[in-house]
Amino acid sequence: MFFDRRTFVRLCSAFAAVAAGPARGQTKPAPPISRGAVKNRKNFVAIQVRGYAWIDEGVEPILDNIQKKGNVNTIWAYTFGYGETRLQKNGPIPLPDHGKSGDTVTGGAFYAYDPKYFHNTILKDFRCPDYGDFNVIEQVAPKAKARGMSFFTWDLNNAGAILNRVIPNYAEVAEVDVYGRRTIAPCFNHPDYQAFLSGKVESLLLGYGSEVDGIAWGSERMGPLDNIVQGLRTPACFCGFCQQKAREQGISVARAQAGYRALVELFQAAHDNQRPDGRYFVSFWRLLLRYPEILSWETLWTDSFQSVQEQLYGMAKAIAPEKPFGFHIMQSMTFNPFYRAEEDYTRRRNGADFLKLATYNNAGGPRLAVYMEELCNSVFHDMTPQEFAPWFYKVMGYDAGPYEGLRASGLPASYVGEETRRAVEQVAGEVQIYPGIDINVPVLNRDAHPGDKKTSPDDVRQAIHAAFGAGANGVVLSREYVECGWRI
Ligand SMILES: [Zn+2]
Repeated sequence: MFFDRRTFVRLCSAFAAVAAGPARGQTKPAPPISRGAVKNRKNFVAIQVRGYAWIDEGVEPILDNIQKKGNVNTIWAYTFGYGETRLQKNGPIPLPDHGKSGDTVTGGAFYAYDPKYFHNTILKDFRCPDYGDFNVIEQVAPKAKARGMSFFTWDLNNAGAILNRVIPNYAEVAEVDVYGRRTIAPCFNHPDYQAFLSGKVESLLLGYGSEVDGIAWGSERMGPLDNIVQGLRTPACFCGFCQQKAREQGISVARAQAGYRALVELFQAAHDNQRPDGRYFVSFWRLLLRYPEILSWETLWTDSFQSVQEQLYGMAKAIAPEKPFGFHIMQSMTFNPFYRAEEDYTRRRNGADFLKLATYNNAGGPRLAVYMEELCNSVFHDMTPQEFAPWFYKVMGYDAGPYEGLRASGLPASYVGEETRRAVEQVAGEVQIYPGIDINVPVLNRDAHPGDKKTSPDDVRQAIHAAFGAGANGVVLSREYVECGWRI
């Protein structure tokens, strides 16, 4: 028996695919990682603490405060941040009893690391330049442990323009948008960025011993479609690495680029109330039909993002299986039906020891109001936010009342309970669930209004009851011990 060349190549490809096993997104998951040894603390109560807070107030006073006032038993100390300012004097949430108003703090690492973990990347020098040789692990962990508290490193990898100025070569790993322009967000398919992220995990687990009890990892990022739906007009990434990956998956780069450019034009027209036939959702759907590569590229981005997290988790478990390694899930999970479809809790069962859910219900009011306005400026421009809200609540599975009242009322405590319950059910006991309990979490300065909901002690009580009533394994008092001012 013999085959012509084309058939032979096709058969070889089919055989290779079978031999390699199912691709991501197909049915069969990887065998579970053994996690019997993970030391998850019972009654987990954590709080995030920024680098400058330790400098401003001193280590012992902060530990005293959070232990006595919040019953906190686990510190999430920033070991890497993306830049922030201290609280502003006239900012949205003045904290009269502590904190310091003031200057911009650049980002980077707040701990010392051995360069040997970063041989494989061009990102080698990323110490935050602001605090001299301050090392949050050495200076805080022993004192926390002396009080019976656990010390987790909080490795937050949001995009921040300031990092380009702090970290040599950081701009080199940035995403490239559909118009060929560099952005400020690093690309998860760039090998140097991947090596940087894994080097950090190694440096925390191998470079330190008993000081580090666990790692919380975060990156509040979304794919090009999610971003464009929320008003960002620079869909990315179309760098060489992403293009190569797309070609390997049979996705046309040129058609994806054409689709995203058309999408930018549509949403710009929606923003300007200019659409010839006056119907926006139909036009949006027509573009998806004409350019299914829009969705393919979104999935390519999301798979890359999630794959990096799975790789970091697998590596952390190989190094220190007993130390909890978990992830922050940003609030878009509860606002954005498109993002929720991509961030599937069931897929985390084998890829996380815990999840912190950003269920900030008080800030959630203004934040959701802004989000609805953004959707009604793009995909759902056929509706006003007032008309959109009842439909949205049905889709998302909660009800926060009329759009007009969202800013002043925030979201009800039941929102915390409903999202917690959903996560608990979907991870099926494989992952600890820690909802974030909102204690005056801010909204972006540009989105803040004077009448926005402020948190009361009773709000906190209700949210905690809602979280534990829904089966939470602990909570993260949110968002920070001292909040930041957002002007970065
Ligand atoms: Zn890329």
